[in-house]
Amino acid sequence: MNLEGPISQIKGVGDKRKEKFKKIRIESILDLLYYFPRDYEDLSRPQLFQDGQLGEKILVRVEARAKYSVNRQMWKLTVVDQEQTQAEIAFFSQDYLRGKIKEGSNYYLYGDLKVFRGRYQMANPRVYSLWEFKKVQGIRPIYPQQKGLKQFEFDQLIQRVLPELHDLEEVIPKPVRLKYTLLSRAASLKEIHQPTSYERLLEAKKRMVFEEFFILQLSVFYRQGYDTSQEGLPMKKIDMGKILKEIPFPLTPGQARSLDEIIGSLTRGRAMRRLLQGDVGSGKTMVAMVAMAFCIENGYQCAMMAPTEILASQHYQSALDFFKPFSYRVALLTGKTKAKDRKEILEDLKAGKIDILLGTHALIQDDVAFKKLGLVITDEQHRFGVSQREKLLEKAKAVHSLVMTATPIPRTYAMASYGDLDVSFIDTMPPGRKPVQTTAVSRSDLKKALDFTRTQLMEGRQAYVVTPLIEENYQLDLESAIKTYHELKEEFKPFKVALMHGQLSSGEKESIMEDFYQHKIDLLVTTTVIEVGVNVPNANLMLVYDAQQFGLAQLHQLRGRVGRGDYQSYCILYNSSDSEKSWERMGIMQETTNGLLIAEKDLSLRGAGDFFGTRQSGASSFFIGDVLRDYPIFKEAQLEARRFFRRYKWDQVKETALAREIQRKESLISRT
Ligand code: ADP
Ligand code: MG
Repeated sequence: MNLEGPISQIKGVGDKRKEKFKKIRIESILDLLYYFPRDYEDLSRPQLFQDGQLGEKILVRVEARAKYSVNRQMWKLTVVDQEQTQAEIAFFSQDYLRGKIKEGSNYYLYGDLKVFRGRYQMANPRVYSLWEFKKVQGIRPIYPQQKGLKQFEFDQLIQRVLPELHDLEEVIPKPVRLKYTLLSRAASLKEIHQPTSYERLLEAKKRMVFEEFFILQLSVFYRQGYDTSQEGLPMKKIDMGKILKEIPFPLTPGQARSLDEIIGSLTRGRAMRRLLQGDVGSGKTMVAMVAMAFCIENGYQCAMMAPTEILASQHYQSALDFFKPFSYRVALLTGKTKAKDRKEILEDLKAGKIDILLGTHALIQDDVAFKKLGLVITDEQHRFGVSQREKLLEKAKAVHSLVMTATPIPRTYAMASYGDLDVSFIDTMPPGRKPVQTTAVSRSDLKKALDFTRTQLMEGRQAYVVTPLIEENYQLDLESAIKTYHELKEEFKPFKVALMHGQLSSGEKESIMEDFYQHKIDLLVTTTVIEVGVNVPNANLMLVYDAQQFGLAQLHQLRGRVGRGDYQSYCILYNSSDSEKSWERMGIMQETTNGLLIAEKDLSLRGAGDFFGTRQSGASSFFIGDVLRDYPIFKEAQLEARRFFRRYKWDQVKETALAREIQRKESLISRT
């Protein structure tokens, strides 16, 4: 079997199946092998009911006791486990199961464990007879759901291919594999599809993540013909003390380290491609300002682009304050800039009379020309398309680029497009920040929460009310935001209540945000569209409806909208569900304001589920690495890729399995 050849070599794959797989971009057997499971279910360790986690999946061996009907749709089964603990199992329809299960026989059940009125319950668990269980037991992969393709088709075809894996050629050079003790390619793929233990599965995953980064970095290097040895505008180290003594506060340790790394990149003679990641409120802007001052002292101009008018003008205000002691010339260019002013700005820019240009994508229009652009900063970069960012970079050759984000999003794709990406983290918060007081309330306390909100409005503060937005159901979500808006408009009379949601044009959203900023609105009902870093210091309260529906990371982002002024601020999470797990998640939000910790806890709560992490929507199941999550592996793979690239010309590698894997991955990305 030629593993790099078409899947039609596998028994059972005719033209029809081939077409179906082609639709999800699986053409070769390798494509199939690199189609990673979304998750695993653990059918290796049977438990007793009393050892199971409520709300979690459990595998339990039971004896069936009695079957009885509840109504036309539902029937129930009572069972006991090995310790004679009773449980009640509900089935909806599933009549064939009812025929199959015999009282007095033993079965394995796999499903969510609940307790109701002191009794263990399960609903619609999977049921295996003892001999069926023998066949399925172990850690089983679950493949991402695909239209027209069933789980068992993946299982079946992959099972047929796994015995052929010994033919698979390695793509990571042996010394590299030894150095990082990486499993072989064949062994890893086998383990991923047919795990023998969680420990080994983790090893396999590490190897595949390493391979992915290694291959993608090589792809970028060979495609561009260079690595970071790309020429960059040379800047000289200068005495930073002169700059730092003028800034309003001392840098936090995280800011100082990031700044060092940035200056390191700026002075290497190579073009910087750096991502600055830091939690909401960690002070990225200040780092950006100091970096700009460094460039200006080196004789260059700087540009900083923000995704919205409001953000751009906030940056402009901060820049005016910040640069007051420096006598730099700062200008703002947005879609709203008057034609006459715009003309003047463009002339000054070209003449080198402006040091810093701030703005929206108005900055990347063709007639915007700099005299000597040195650094381009993009704020909240995930809001821009790659092409917009690149257009800005084209404004000057070898220009340095810094992108800032609070959202750890860049995954494999981002890396493939950034190429040689470096990352700095700001992992400390500015001192003296009053942490946002977070409280979770249940249905019975919503009234109290609304009353408390009113007292804040009466004191002259402003508030956000956030309603959930679940991507799949825009219509419903919109209705719920609108409904909440109408209710609160009544409830909060005579305060001014407004509604903002994603269906509005960006102009409309901006003008609402502007009104909120200017306190023409007291209470803003909104969907998650406010996530972007807008700063309204007078808004000190956020009430999140149906908070259980949000991811913790997202709640954390949202919460970052308050606590930006001198007032004590509050975040009230209205949890409308009774599930234990949701309350546990609310508990995490109450306990900590550390974004990284929250992300970690969220993951550990979600457990082995979601094994490969949440994937960026639209990203495919063919990539498992995440630059930020797997950053240490990324750095190692990047280092090794760089060494490899310097050592071998493309001509020397183009006949190898490695080169073919680079091409296969490139073509997967372009097929996406
Ligand atoms: P973000 O990383 O979300 O963009 P900002 O740059 O908006 O954060 O900073 C949030 C707030 O923290 C700003 O009001 C800023 O003035 C303040 N700040 C930034 N750095 C420091 C520091 N080192 N010490 C004290 N306050 C700081
Ligand atoms: Mg910011």
